[in-house]
Amino acid sequence: MVDYGIQYWANDDFFIEDGRVKVNYKNSPALIEIVKKAREDGYRGPLLIRFPHLIKKQIEKIFQSFEDSIKENHYKGEFKAVFPIKVNHYPNFILPLMELTQKRCYGLEAGSKSELIIAMAYTNANAPITVNGFKDKEMISLGFIAAKMGHDITLTIEGLNELETIIEVAKTMGKPYPKIGLRIRLHSTGAGAWAKSGGFHSKFGLSATELVEAIDLLKKNHLLEQFMMIHFHIGSQISDISPLKKALRESGNIYAELRKMGAKNLRYVNIGGGLAVEYTQYENHQNRNYTLAEFSGDVVFTLKEIAKNKKEPEPDIFIESGRYVCANHAVLISPVLELFSQEYDEKALRLKEKNPPLIEELYDLYNSIVEKTAIEYLHDSLEHMESLLTLFDLGYIDLQDRSNTEVLVHLIIKKVIKILKYKNHRDIIRIQEQVQERYLLNCSFFQSLPDYWGLGQNFPVIPLDKLNKRPTRSASLWDITCDSDGEIAFNKNTPLFLHDIDVNKEEYFLGFFLVGAYQEVLGMRHNLFTHPTELSVVFDEKGEYSIENLLEAQTILDVLDDLDYDTKEIERRLKQKLEESEEIPDDSKKEVLGQLYVMLSENGYLRTVFKGEGAIL
Ligand SMILES: *Cc1c(COP(=O)(O)O)cnc(C)c1O
Repeated sequence: MVDYGIQYWANDDFFIEDGRVKVNYKNSPALIEIVKKAREDGYRGPLLIRFPHLIKKQIEKIFQSFEDSIKENHYKGEFKAVFPIKVNHYPNFILPLMELTQKRCYGLEAGSKSELIIAMAYTNANAPITVNGFKDKEMISLGFIAAKMGHDITLTIEGLNELETIIEVAKTMGKPYPKIGLRIRLHSTGAGAWAKSGGFHSKFGLSATELVEAIDLLKKNHLLEQFMMIHFHIGSQISDISPLKKALRESGNIYAELRKMGAKNLRYVNIGGGLAVEYTQYENHQNRNYTLAEFSGDVVFTLKEIAKNKKEPEPDIFIESGRYVCANHAVLISPVLELFSQEYDEKALRLKEKNPPLIEELYDLYNSIVEKTAIEYLHDSLEHMESLLTLFDLGYIDLQDRSNTEVLVHLIIKKVIKILKYKNHRDIIRIQEQVQERYLLNCSFFQSLPDYWGLGQNFPVIPLDKLNKRPTRSASLWDITCDSDGEIAFNKNTPLFLHDIDVNKEEYFLGFFLVGAYQEVLGMRHNLFTHPTELSVVFDEKGEYSIENLLEAQTILDVLDDLDYDTKEIERRLKQKLEESEEIPDDSKKEVLGQLYVMLSENGYLRTVFKGEGAIL
């Protein structure tokens, strides 16, 4: 895998040219150039780069696909969509999203009071707002206020008690009322890691019995005309299209039946989110078995069939796709700080006058290794290492011998890789698990890739340059948290190879792609590493890009303040301890205090910078 499977996951958003990853838009800048530009301005540590043009691209794709399917099927309903705010709440995403979709019927979906406030402030005029999730009286009143502000808002109720509260609030707050939606509890379920949102035992929605009761309640309270939408959501990242088709048939029939029960204003079927993103870098490991065109075609066709059979009008189609809209707009860039075996070079070898025989043998292996014997010698040396470590445990060899063992084995591994470099890749693959290198990354997986930690979700990873050289090191990735879970281990079924580089001589950056959905707000501040420094790359008409909305990772003091530490008190205590210290001479106390204050106002990621040629200090 030299192209890192870019044809599977990149969606044509990025491509490789001249050994570098480039943005497939306008003047096609290389990602490494954008990163260097940000670093020239002093920003260290990980970077989260947003590309607003990719937000627009996804929205256009979804609308185009549904519009095509509607045309093909001569479907009479319309297509509308909302973005579920929970998938990315950040202003540097939401604001461009609303600006770029002004000409579309595209609004926001809220699941909490805070999200509803965002929706009320930023939804474009005439674009819809939908509200899902559990609601109290205050939240329902907020919905009524939104309606009075002129928003096209639908409150989707999750249970009968919410409907009772709506009836109560309607009496006190009066017209205009918000639209009312009912979330239906499907007996069909989704598939995959996020399937729990559907199914008979799902956390959400009304059963058939409750639906009948809801219609009665609405009728009795003269609110039936406000009931306009049914809603379901079978879970995120739908890998297989068949559960969706089942859910569509079930909900389509519920739509028709509710209309026959007198719900004459019911005309929206909201199919929730779940459209999957392809994350894989490997052939035959695809995450979904359908295309967007198939998805929209199935939705339109199924609803059309049911409407025809039940002689009801074809409903407008609403979707709440989140992941598909925003995953690809953000890329996490992490500098590589260290390769762990780097210190094992010949200089570190301190052979004695007389060495244990196994070490002498290792040394001979190292010197006499050639292509034909490479694999055999490698295996011999690994066996010798095991024996030598046992000898150490038993007290027969000393620490210097043990160090020589480590160094020699690493030297042999490197030599084998070098010798086999131009040979069939299979030979390297055969030994890859034994010879893997650990790359230390200046980022936190807990903060920036929480779904990797929590759900084992893989994100495509690729070096930003050197792609015209074959990577030879099988790699495992370590973040800088002190947690052994902060590791992306080498997996021989989906192997990652990286370049053998000397980080003292050159910089090396890895990009993690498709991180724009869910990762940011789910990210946790384990070890108090905050969000990475983020920026947006915006293109002008001439095709040039500029860096906008730069937001640096939080400073150490801000992080502590967020935890409710009294930061003034922290500063005071540090100062006092410094002044009382007898170890620091009085005339340098001021300087040390100055250093401390500078550090408190910087972010907590590692700042150590490479000092080789072309370094930006
Ligand atoms: C989370 C959620 C979505 C978004 O799902 P995606 O898989 O990100 O498209 C849509 N609707 C509801 C009700 C949700 O809870």
